[in-house]
Amino acid sequence: MAAAESDREVPSALCTEFLNFSAKDTALKWIQVTDLYKEVYQHLARYVPKIYCLGPNLNPQSEDLLAQLLLQAPLEWYLCGEDPSTGLAKLEQNNQPSQLCGHVFRVGEPTYSCRECAADPTCVLCMQCFLGSVHKEHRYRMTTSGGGGFCDCGDTEAWKKGPYCQKHEPNISDSCQEDPLAHLSTDMIARCYNVFAIVLKYAVDMLTWDKEDELPPGLEPPDRGDTYYCMLFNDEVHTYEQVIYTLQKAVNCTQKEAVSFATTVDRDGRKSVRFGDFAFCEQAKSVIVRNTSRQSKPLRVQVMHSSVVAHQCFALKALHWLGHVIGYSDALRRILCQVGLERGPEGENSSLVDTLMLCDSKMWKGARNVYHQLFMSSLLMDLKYKKLFAIQFAKNYERLQSDYVKDDHDREFSVTDLSVQMFTVPSLARMLITEENLMTTIIRTFVDHLRHRDLQGRFQFERYTAQQAFKFRRVQSLIGDLKYILISRPTEWSDQLREKFLEGLDTFLELFKCMQGMDPVVRQVGQHIEMEPEWEAAFTLQMKLTHIISMMQEWCATDERVLIEAYKKCLTALTHCHSGFTDGEQPITLSMCGHSVDTIRYCVSQEKVSIHLPVSRLLAGLHVLLSKMEVAYRFPEQLPLSELSPPMLIEHPLRCLVLCAQVHAGMWRRNGFSLVNQIYYYHNVKCRVEMFDKDLIMLQAGASMMDPNHFLMIVLSRFELYHIFSSADCRKSYNRENTNKDVVQQNNTLIEEMLHLIMMVVGERFEAGVGQVEGCDEIKREIIHQLCIRPMAHSELVKALPENENKETGMERVIDSVASFKKPGVTGRGLYELRPECAKQFNLYFHHYSRADQSKAEEAQRKLKRQNGEDMALPPPMLPPFSPLFASLVNILQCDVLLGMLGAVLQWAVEPSGGHWSESMLQRVLHLIGMGLLEEQQQLKNSSEDHDVSFNFTLKISRPGEAPSNTASVLALLENLQNAPHLEVHKDMIRWILKMVASIKTMRELTASTYTVTASGSHGQEEMVCDKDKAERKRKAEMARLRREKIMAQMSEMQRHFINENKELFQQSLEELYASTSTSLEHSPTSSDAALVCVGPRRSRPREKRQVVTCILCQEEQEIRADSKAMVLAAFVQRSTVMSKNRKRPPHDPEHYDPLFMHPDLSFGTHTGSCGHIMHSHCWQRYFEAVQAKEQRRQQRLRVHTSYDVGNGEFLCPLCECLSNTVIPLLPGTKGSNSCEQPGLGQWLKISGQQIKAMHSAHRKLQPVGVDAVEETVEEQCPATENFRIDYTPMSPYSSTIKEMLTTFGTATYKVGLKVHPNEQDPRVPIMCWGSCAYTIQSIERLLVDEEKPLFGSLPCRQDDCLSSLARFGSACWTAASQPSVQGHYIRLVAALIPDPQVETSPCILDIDMLHLLVSVVLSYGSVHSQDSSGLSVDAVQLHFFHLITVAHMVQMLLTSGPEEVTMEQESGGAEREEEEDICTLYNTLRTHLGSSLPEVASGWHLWRCVKTGILPYLRGAALFFHHLNGIPTPPELHALCPGQWEVLCGYLSLPANLLQLYHSQKELLEPLLYGWCSHPGVRQTLQGGGVLVSFPRESNSLIDLPDDYSALINQASSFTCPKSGGDKSRAPTLCLVCGSMLCSQSYCCQTELDGEDVGACTAHTFACGAGVGIFLRVRESQVLFLSGKTKGCFYAPPYLDDYGETDQGLRRGNPLHLCHQRYRKIQKLWRQHSVTEEIGHAQEANQTLVGIDWQHL
Ligand SMILES: [Zn+2]
Ligand SMILES: [Zn+2]
Ligand SMILES: [Zn+2]
Ligand SMILES: [Zn+2]
Ligand SMILES: [Zn+2]
Ligand SMILES: [Zn+2]
Ligand SMILES: [Zn+2]
Repeated sequence: MAAAESDREVPSALCTEFLNFSAKDTALKWIQVTDLYKEVYQHLARYVPKIYCLGPNLNPQSEDLLAQLLLQAPLEWYLCGEDPSTGLAKLEQNNQPSQLCGHVFRVGEPTYSCRECAADPTCVLCMQCFLGSVHKEHRYRMTTSGGGGFCDCGDTEAWKKGPYCQKHEPNISDSCQEDPLAHLSTDMIARCYNVFAIVLKYAVDMLTWDKEDELPPGLEPPDRGDTYYCMLFNDEVHTYEQVIYTLQKAVNCTQKEAVSFATTVDRDGRKSVRFGDFAFCEQAKSVIVRNTSRQSKPLRVQVMHSSVVAHQCFALKALHWLGHVIGYSDALRRILCQVGLERGPEGENSSLVDTLMLCDSKMWKGARNVYHQLFMSSLLMDLKYKKLFAIQFAKNYERLQSDYVKDDHDREFSVTDLSVQMFTVPSLARMLITEENLMTTIIRTFVDHLRHRDLQGRFQFERYTAQQAFKFRRVQSLIGDLKYILISRPTEWSDQLREKFLEGLDTFLELFKCMQGMDPVVRQVGQHIEMEPEWEAAFTLQMKLTHIISMMQEWCATDERVLIEAYKKCLTALTHCHSGFTDGEQPITLSMCGHSVDTIRYCVSQEKVSIHLPVSRLLAGLHVLLSKMEVAYRFPEQLPLSELSPPMLIEHPLRCLVLCAQVHAGMWRRNGFSLVNQIYYYHNVKCRVEMFDKDLIMLQAGASMMDPNHFLMIVLSRFELYHIFSSADCRKSYNRENTNKDVVQQNNTLIEEMLHLIMMVVGERFEAGVGQVEGCDEIKREIIHQLCIRPMAHSELVKALPENENKETGMERVIDSVASFKKPGVTGRGLYELRPECAKQFNLYFHHYSRADQSKAEEAQRKLKRQNGEDMALPPPMLPPFSPLFASLVNILQCDVLLGMLGAVLQWAVEPSGGHWSESMLQRVLHLIGMGLLEEQQQLKNSSEDHDVSFNFTLKISRPGEAPSNTASVLALLENLQNAPHLEVHKDMIRWILKMVASIKTMRELTASTYTVTASGSHGQEEMVCDKDKAERKRKAEMARLRREKIMAQMSEMQRHFINENKELFQQSLEELYASTSTSLEHSPTSSDAALVCVGPRRSRPREKRQVVTCILCQEEQEIRADSKAMVLAAFVQRSTVMSKNRKRPPHDPEHYDPLFMHPDLSFGTHTGSCGHIMHSHCWQRYFEAVQAKEQRRQQRLRVHTSYDVGNGEFLCPLCECLSNTVIPLLPGTKGSNSCEQPGLGQWLKISGQQIKAMHSAHRKLQPVGVDAVEETVEEQCPATENFRIDYTPMSPYSSTIKEMLTTFGTATYKVGLKVHPNEQDPRVPIMCWGSCAYTIQSIERLLVDEEKPLFGSLPCRQDDCLSSLARFGSACWTAASQPSVQGHYIRLVAALIPDPQVETSPCILDIDMLHLLVSVVLSYGSVHSQDSSGLSVDAVQLHFFHLITVAHMVQMLLTSGPEEVTMEQESGGAEREEEEDICTLYNTLRTHLGSSLPEVASGWHLWRCVKTGILPYLRGAALFFHHLNGIPTPPELHALCPGQWEVLCGYLSLPANLLQLYHSQKELLEPLLYGWCSHPGVRQTLQGGGVLVSFPRESNSLIDLPDDYSALINQASSFTCPKSGGDKSRAPTLCLVCGSMLCSQSYCCQTELDGEDVGACTAHTFACGAGVGIFLRVRESQVLFLSGKTKGCFYAPPYLDDYGETDQGLRRGNPLHLCHQRYRKIQKLWRQHSVTEEIGHAQEANQTLVGIDWQHL
């Protein structure tokens, strides 16, 4: 056997048994025995306790191995009847796999659903199947799985189209319906059956076993010792922290162990925390129980015998094994299903599967997971047994749900969660409804669990405890199940289905009856309510049921008979609810305008009223269906129409609407927020479909069956406005006598609300069935009205539209017909804009507008009209006609009561007296009149010639009141109002009305004679009237516009004064900051004639004479001079790895690191940036002290954090709030020397050598005299040069404040750059400053290349200023340090170039970054030059150093150029011939020094290419450096990206265009240096692979490549496991965008210690990978995370967008996401320019909640 070769250690006790054991023999024995069951149990009883659970430290590998050999192998032998390795393979070969994919999802794995083809949203595909399916071209949705569930590929019922992917496409030739068992021999089937029966029984026995100390019969161990486990179980009550704390106390473990225990308990549901004898375990148990029982029920702990635990372990293993074995063959799977579902000895529901399900809530999490998985891979994969299992599941449904409600595990760990796998299959759902009456069972179970009722039997959630709330949440999952079985509508109905559905509906109505009128409210007068009543539970219930209610109606809509029956049942239920409705309420009679009606006396403001009316609303929905399906016209005799009492139908919905009006009017203020919230949800998009909308429909239904006058009087009465309009003289101001302003105000609002309600009753006709519209007209209208407010993003629109149970709004079908899409830029999102032609459908009184929406839309639409030069009236839009059932509603417009009301309001407007009317009231009246006119016009247009149009609104409004009052007609009042000065805003609307009246009159006259004028003709006539008006209006509009502009100008002038000057400055500087051209560089043509040179004795004149700057704090001007007050630049210094070519280099030990030489891999650098704002140093100091003081006060008061860390020297720039942590002093430029004759290279080398010698000896004198002092005195005799005064201590030329600032910036750079405590004495301070200068120059040079910008002239001036001050600071910083130490640095720097025997450890030139060397050596030279009086100019020295280092760099590149690439031999023309020959000479010289370490090269072409491209960044960096250091103007050619830059650049740098001349012209002098460099042992070593070899040019680092499709990332993350907790899925996989590492973020398991503090994986990684700054992608959240240090962080928009140009942070919408390269580049740019920390600062200042987040735990 192959496994015998294992070298794992096997417990010795077993060794002999193991060696003697033969699986084959055992199996053969089993085949012969009669009682196999007993035999196998004996085998298990003997071996299981010997393999599993032998001590405290489990060894899963060896346990599994032994189990495989001793337990599973014989079973497999028995099963196959031969060697299982061949037997199982045979099975697999003969298997015809089913077409189901069945891939079970991991947590976080991406799943796909097709929004076009999926039967419901729970139908999903795995990534593989999706990519091979037709749906990837469809509109799909992507989500991440919560674990569990499987791929539905191949399930024909799950997909309307394309059920198979390419892989699972059925092979037509196969007869797929064949019984899989047909291929197996009966013998095999029998053996298989035996094994499965025994093993499954064993597993079920063990997993459901609840005794701690004994085993089931037949399994007692032969010898049992006193070995126990103390088993801790998971619960959802105690927190991680509590468990960890308790464990440390109870079992004496470390915190780490406790964390590990807790993690396992959480994952597996249980974990043994102690092993030992009984007493030992019992003691731990009592401690745990004692410690956790205080606040809640204690943690569950059991002391279990080791053999029990062992068998349970193997039981889990056995289930795994079964799952594995059935994977070989569908036949085996079917046998297992059969075994599992076989009825047990106890009769019904006693199969093994039943037993498992019914014990589900008693099992621990791990056990449940294992058997659920087995169910999924067996029962749910076999279509035959899936059905049988579904039936058993349905039979047990009530029990399972009750268990689940009590269980404290989440639903994903409950067997009830499997319901989705069966109930969503339409055929199964239908079968379960008809055969198992599942619909009724679900609803009944649900109702049974909601036990809180009031006296009338309604639900009562008032006294609602936390435990009840928990239970209530659980019960809601039943609604989910109900939704699943209803989700697909039946296409054909059987009688049985009808019967069971209607039975279900009956139960449902019982539920509704308990809801009708629940949570009633009574208006609070006098005192404010004391306690906000509970309202959320009732609304949660309503919200959860919303889709169910809609689906019930849709079911009814598919069958006329069902609809009729449902309508009857619903009406009966409503009548039942209303019984006793009029009892005790006296009827009263209302009369008005010659009409009278009886109604009851009821005041919303005084009596109970409820917002919950599901029975009424369901009836309203069914009533609309009667109309829509035309059942009302075709089978009127079958409908109980005569039983309908319209006043009863409208009563409760009307009360509810009045309640809303009264709340708006402020009458219910004392009832607190709960009522306000209820009203909000009533109208909210999540609820309104089955609440507000249906109430309105019920009103329409009722009113259509009533005399409109009666209807309106009842409305008036419920609004408590009847008394105002009913009195004879109502047209006189209605409440002269009423001086209470509040009451007047209230009544005004109520009148407005009532008028609005009337508009809605008459005008809302977009529900199919109410009006004659198509289904999509309604959604179109919703979208139009949303877009009338403003252009909106896709997600905003989705949020504003109701979703159906499939989370679809139906928007995609229609959006393009009403809107056009505008793409997003780099920020922002894509927007939909309303098509202009749709604007005419705008209705200001659209019923789904909130008041805020309404006023925004009004403003937007008026603005639009103004822009188009149209008049400002917003008349009502044309409406579709009503369906016949609702047709009579239009008569409301022309009924006497309404006209009376309209007349009254107009009359009040004519004689405005105090606040007794309002403009919105008038506006609504005008709108209603407009609706009347439009209705009449429509009817006239549509009527045939002879047909008389009975709707005559114009006539009615022209008629004056009758005697005796003789009131003016509505029309007369309007004409009157047209000229009222106080109604300017409404004039356009009044004019529109009068014109309509005139046009209708014309139409009527024409019809009266002969109706010839077509609709368009009448329209034309209207337009003619319009034209004259239009011109006039245009003129007026123009004047108004001019006046407005003037006012605006004045306003902004005032604002400008108001905004303080600082802020204005800020604006300016911001503009400068982002402008692409800089103003600081005037390339003056005056200095032009001679070519510009920036370094060396021939260098050009500096640009500036005098530099004057303004302090942003005190606004004073100040000249920059060495001896004046210091001016400083706010700056931010940070460590950086942005340019690193070697992220593997471990961080330096800060205390001992020598930073003098930068390695060319640039692994760690120090970057300095600035916002460019200048202050006096003393002004800044005062500011900083104030910030500090404020911060101290703040910390004392409350623990508020700020976005900056004052303790660390951080502050925000006082002007632009940019994060800063130090300041750089501004220094004047150096003066050019008058160049007298300067020494050449040879002479200078000699002078320099002498100076260095002199310094060596001087420094040695300073040190205590050592042992070999004598020897050295000889040399001391030659303090050679007379012009070098080594003892001379130069005076610092700087004022005291500048000196102070030199120290400040130096110390800050040192502190941040090395991550050490500040120490201004440390000799490394100046080194860090030079390094930062070089690094910053290099980073800016890279940035310019990456952005494809020219070298000069394109930097924002803040960076120019920053570079200048850095360079000049660098050249001055030695004055603040000890001169000998700076000279010491200088000596060591020079020694790296010119070998110096007295310097021992010089790095080899392959280990030196040359720009760093150049900058450091030039900047440190100042300390040497100060003692030189020979007239040697700094310029000459700079040039010599520059040339030397350039040669060194070329050599460096030749050494690293690598082998020649195989390219076509390219011979260049004569131009570069010289360079090629020269470089060959140089290369061959190097080869003579180094020999075979360097490959042979045939032509110089390749070498010259390498050197020329490789050296360019260095030359550009040098140009930037010398330009800023010396202040030399720049050649115009370098301000653009044009060819010929090389020559210009070389010229500016005082270099020959053929760089090799540097070497050839000084060959003799350079030869020894070359030899010196090459003979450094480090060179040979590195070239032979012993070090980090960097090749040039160094490419800019980029953020990692991201896949185009976001789901690829999700998939990658889903297979990522936590690196610390052995194979666990990480909860928050997070990708480092810098290096591509995946991390396990925000989790205990991966916390590590960083500087004595526990930090999350991201923070820890940040320090290793980004020197404290990190850019991550949180994959599950689709969110970019910026981190800086341990305390700063922010989230940033991800670079992934959906097709609508929107990001999806949190992955909530599930639209496919694709990489937006532009946005990713923007993030990359932030990183490359070192702005991440700055970005975090700005984000935190803008959003204070970001400050409070514990970023270090991510
Ligand atoms: Zn699949
Ligand atoms: Zn597939
Ligand atoms: Zn599709
Ligand atoms: Zn100042
Ligand atoms: Zn600033
Ligand atoms: Zn990284
Ligand atoms: Zn982890």
